[in-house]
Amino acid sequence: MLPRIRIKGATIVTMDPSLGIIESGDLLIDNGKIVAVGRNLGSWAVSEIDGRGMIAMPGFINGHIHLWQTALRGVAADWTLDHYFGVLIGKVVRLYTAQDAYIGNLVGALDQINCGVTTLFDWCHIVNTPAHADAAVDALKDARIRALFAYGTPMTLFGTKEPHPVDAVRMRKERLASDDALVTMALAIRGTDFAPGTAEADIRLARELGLIASFHVACAKHGPRPQSMQNLAQQNLLGEDINLVHANFLTGDEFRVVANSGASISITPEVEMQMGLGLPPTGAALAAGAKMNIGTDVVTGVSTDIFTQMRFLIQTQRALTNDGFHKRETMPDKLAIKVRDALELVTIKSARCFGLDDRIGSLTPGKEADVVLLRKTDINMRAAADPIAAIVLHAGVANVDTVIVGGNIVKQNGRLTYGDLSRRLAELERSSERLYSGFASDASAA
Ligand SMILES: [Zn+2]
Repeated sequence: MLPRIRIKGATIVTMDPSLGIIESGDLLIDNGKIVAVGRNLGSWAVSEIDGRGMIAMPGFINGHIHLWQTALRGVAADWTLDHYFGVLIGKVVRLYTAQDAYIGNLVGALDQINCGVTTLFDWCHIVNTPAHADAAVDALKDARIRALFAYGTPMTLFGTKEPHPVDAVRMRKERLASDDALVTMALAIRGTDFAPGTAEADIRLARELGLIASFHVACAKHGPRPQSMQNLAQQNLLGEDINLVHANFLTGDEFRVVANSGASISITPEVEMQMGLGLPPTGAALAAGAKMNIGTDVVTGVSTDIFTQMRFLIQTQRALTNDGFHKRETMPDKLAIKVRDALELVTIKSARCFGLDDRIGSLTPGKEADVVLLRKTDINMRAAADPIAAIVLHAGVANVDTVIVGGNIVKQNGRLTYGDLSRRLAELERSSERLYSGFASDASAA
């Protein structure tokens, strides 16, 4: 039984339209669930967190990340997408042991908690053996983060017609059978662009296992697009259980097909612009009414900080829309996307993409207690009248004071509560050095 907790006196940004923003509000947690949100809820708790001077908000949801790459932070800083695939598939993936997968996933997940992320979609394509998959899942559990572990193929199977690893069936039946646990399962499949001819069987496998199937799509203008979204819809290969990553070059019609099917889109704005995947398709996806979320994607390239990704997304879309006005020789009469829209895409709307909105995504009584406290007493947050504007445009990782996942306090007073962090960070450094020594010449050739 987890302790009863009261957060007292915070500015509560619930992201629940019926509750709104509550000034000087209290939030009560019992056995890992939110039981009440409101003012002056009384002295009730076993442990109390002083929320005065804080914004309380639902934990961020990172809709797309490859945690295993943590030991290679920044290696692809100046790489194109082709260079990235060449080095990772050609060299790096084969060097990874199960222990490398464990330490990358563990420190990566703790890094996400440090940033205020309480749920992430771990798109795991380092599953060279079943032991790699087990190690990645162990790490997610040890980090005490909420996660969808998306069981992928080894990266070396991209471009082949090999079937998805059957070990995914073992993982579903033996280790990730519950859909209510902290770590649940999805399938990370290669999809129509990266392994033509495999998507149908892979989606069928996901459906047999009752899992969301996620794949990267339309993220290279000149890349192969063997199947349009219309083709997929005709074959019943789209739907609420399908998650599409990037989708930069889908057409307007395709976005409408995706929206009508109920499939979701994960946009990772920073890396899409950096590596040449294409402009984030935020405007087209919103216009079609498609379900959307924001992810950080590859730590080999870009920041793992969800605040940064929110800002990239909102400002890119504003710039694109504003540019349309300029091209008509006029000035914008309004901005394209509001700060609240951006915050929804990393909270409640992201939860909806993964069928988790009845459990997380807002500070609603009955939901899991996934809560973040941001210090608004810090200098960069002072005199911010609107807490949502403050979160989206001013806050950063340095303001993340407290993180609670399912009633467990995993960060407090600005520090992770994980017990053995310095030993784990040293293990990550050793993993990093060993991996680099295996592909040093490729890493330096930009
Ligand atoms: Zn990705």
